[in-house]
Amino acid sequence: MEHTFDTILEFIEGLSIIDTHEHLPASEKHRPQAPDVLGEWLTHYFSCDLVSAGLQEAQLARARDPHVPLMDRWQLLAPYWHAAASTGYGRALALSAQALYGIDRIDSGTIEELNRRFLEARERGGHYRYVLKQKSRIRVSILDANLDADPEFFVSVCRFDGYVCPTHRRAIVGVQERLGRTIHTVRDWKEALETELDAALKRGMVAVKCGLAYKRPLFFEKTTEAAAEAGFNELFAAANSPDWRDPIRPAKALQDHMMHHLLALADARGLAVQFHTGLQEGNGNVITDANPVLLANLLLEYRNVRFDLFHMGYPYMQEIAALAKNFPNAYIDMCWGHIISPEAARRALGEWLDAVPANKISAFGGDYVFVDGVYGHQELARRNVAAALSEKVRQDCFDMDRACEIARWLFVDNPEALFGLRPPAP
Ligand SMILES: [Zn+2]
Repeated sequence: MEHTFDTILEFIEGLSIIDTHEHLPASEKHRPQAPDVLGEWLTHYFSCDLVSAGLQEAQLARARDPHVPLMDRWQLLAPYWHAAASTGYGRALALSAQALYGIDRIDSGTIEELNRRFLEARERGGHYRYVLKQKSRIRVSILDANLDADPEFFVSVCRFDGYVCPTHRRAIVGVQERLGRTIHTVRDWKEALETELDAALKRGMVAVKCGLAYKRPLFFEKTTEAAAEAGFNELFAAANSPDWRDPIRPAKALQDHMMHHLLALADARGLAVQFHTGLQEGNGNVITDANPVLLANLLLEYRNVRFDLFHMGYPYMQEIAALAKNFPNAYIDMCWGHIISPEAARRALGEWLDAVPANKISAFGGDYVFVDGVYGHQELARRNVAAALSEKVRQDCFDMDRACEIARWLFVDNPEALFGLRPPAP
């Protein structure tokens, strides 16, 4: 078993992989310069585990503040850090500290040295190349969402959530200004969406991204343009009212209608659409809104759209398996998954390999807003996939050659085909 795992892991470590999803600053020069290591590493994820462990929001704000002495902030964090250190988020940071900065253990004895090395590396520059290329061996990352991102590292998806769910009166005004045309009706609104989508495609957009599971359930009913028009008129009237700065909630019929229109546009162009499903980042949200099975009607209707279902659907891993098994256009994306719970990711992958064809799964998307986290995540992902595959070999489900073939599909060939990415430069 040990030997099988080691052999498969060695093969996987040699792969130059595709990263299906990141939120990193668009280039190294866009990286925020104010935070130190605690400020940057506690931007998201592990900070939520600290809050979940009992850290107060006010204490977290103080712990992020680089003007407060580092050791004072560490004292504040230490008990919660200790409590959360073995979660996927905690382990990803520990792996990054070790591999990127040579710090074997993050504690009161090492935090100052870790910070010194962190600041030194940022000062030196070339950190994106060091982390993403040299250490993480990532061929390309799909960024959410910036078409101007550094092409050495990124291609980009685009979001049109503002068209589907224009939660603010300014949405109409913003589009009018951007496109230099006035908008009066849902028909105008739909044409504006089409114009912007085609412009983004021309500029290299590789897929559409939808993050609306943070705001509403993923069930989008079929509604008529007339029903949508009523909601649109409310929004439009509000855009011209004196207090136009206040957000309003647009009618559900309008949102549903616009999602169907967006998918019809994607369908006609054979595009992939990345859907947030499962766990929402932060402390507190409605998980049932993000159940991937709510997308079944869209999967049935828009057959030319490749639905890339994010985050393993966590905790709906069996539901997502049923979708990927049933629908030729449903794909499982493990982005974020290996750090939400490494164990859940391994177990789910073991089950999917039995139920879902192996060309339907993408193994890795870092999903970080800061670059150092990506290293730890991709390392956990490589080990997890090696563990799941070696277990299958041990059970005589398939041999080593097949295991390595599947590993290459999951990390490279599947996302490459799904997003129509260019093959690597020779
Ligand atoms: Zn994300």
